[in-house]
Amino acid sequence: MQDFWFKVSLPVIYGAIVAVVLWALFSAVVALLFMLALLLAVMAYRARQLYKLERWLLDARPETIPEADGIWDDVFSQLYKMVKQHNQTKQDLAAELQHIEQATAALPEGVAILNELNRIEWCNPLAQQHFDLDAEHDIMQDITYLVRQPEFVEYLHESPVEESRLNEPLVMRPARHDDMVLSIKLIPYGGDKRLLISRDITQLERIESMRRDFVANVSHELRTPLTVVSGFIENLQDMPDLNQDSAHRALQLMAEQARRMDNLVTDLLTLSRLENEQSPLREETVDIVALLTEVCQDGESLSGGQHTLRLEAASDANLLGNSDELRSAFVNLLSNAIRYTPGGGAILLRWFERGGQPVFSVQDSGIGIAAQHIPRLTERFYRVDRSRSRETGGTGLGLAIVKHIAMRHQAKLEVFSEEGKGSTFSLVFPIRRQVRPA
Ligand code: ADP
Repeated sequence: MQDFWFKVSLPVIYGAIVAVVLWALFSAVVALLFMLALLLAVMAYRARQLYKLERWLLDARPETIPEADGIWDDVFSQLYKMVKQHNQTKQDLAAELQHIEQATAALPEGVAILNELNRIEWCNPLAQQHFDLDAEHDIMQDITYLVRQPEFVEYLHESPVEESRLNEPLVMRPARHDDMVLSIKLIPYGGDKRLLISRDITQLERIESMRRDFVANVSHELRTPLTVVSGFIENLQDMPDLNQDSAHRALQLMAEQARRMDNLVTDLLTLSRLENEQSPLREETVDIVALLTEVCQDGESLSGGQHTLRLEAASDANLLGNSDELRSAFVNLLSNAIRYTPGGGAILLRWFERGGQPVFSVQDSGIGIAAQHIPRLTERFYRVDRSRSRETGGTGLGLAIVKHIAMRHQAKLEVFSEEGKGSTFSLVFPIRRQVRPA
């Protein structure tokens, strides 16, 4: 403070000393005139500094701060420090904001801030995607004007600010992306604001619906043979003196149904083992020609001499893979060829190379498959002709198993078929799995 007054008064003090000297040397008038001129000069100098300050304040940047002496130098350097600090704080805040924006953009959930009137104050890119919002135009718009589905509007209005934390999330399909399923939740914060959190649960819903279908299918598949077996058991109980022939026939039919259930459970267990990601593929070098010779023999006994089976091995390449899984895939494809080919038909098993890739194929002259069914054949329990599949002991899981085995070997399952003419199922393996015999 003292320093300030000292600096402000310094020109006047110097002037007064000079005026006293002038008074002593000349006269009081000269001294007064000198003082007057000095005061005017001091005032002019300060007015000029004020003007510079006023100009600078219009666009206050540290690099354009005016230069001055004395007390004005102090004032300007204080201002310089203030502006510099202010700019630094601004930069820090902007960087912080950018971090927050980057973090919210990386969130796997959509986030929007709604005010007490349900107007959107801010939203992250995922929320824009979920609700088809445009961050530039839709900010401060009422979200119920933009997302008009009644269940959404009702959810927003029915969730009073203080209670919305307790609410169950709303599951809905956005109007413009009806292939997407969203789970929506409102979280109150900051008095009367709410966070609108949206999560894309399409995949979860799909898996859940597949699981439900699967359980329903398995139960249905098991119920039919079980009903048959319990029917026979009841009959046998009601008629203890049933003649030997009828009893034998009933037991035969029961054994057939038990076999059907056994096949189903075996296929289910195989599928579950193949789907278990914790069981990696145990690889070995498999002699495919030897394996196919065995598979072909199994096929002969399955066909019971009704079909002409032929094995054509145009390649002697071995394959890096799992022998049991490969056998299961080949047997499934051959068994299908036999089961869907009427007696007298021909079946050709081939092992060859196509563009360097090892290929196994089964060609039959059977009933064939209409084009619209082909993309769905590997779905569990998908059958073109349900009764034919059942009659021949099919579980509806064979091709699902083949697809999994193919995937575990990075192979591709190709299907060519024409209704009434026959089908060719091929497994095309990657070149790197081919092992040339020593
Ligand atoms: P399934 O146990 O019913 O045979 P799959 O999964 O092995 O089940 O096959 C699915 C469906 O694909 C079969 O029900 C059948 O309709 C059709 N299919 C499979 N292979 C052939 C084939 N070689 N010829 C004609 N249809 C076939």
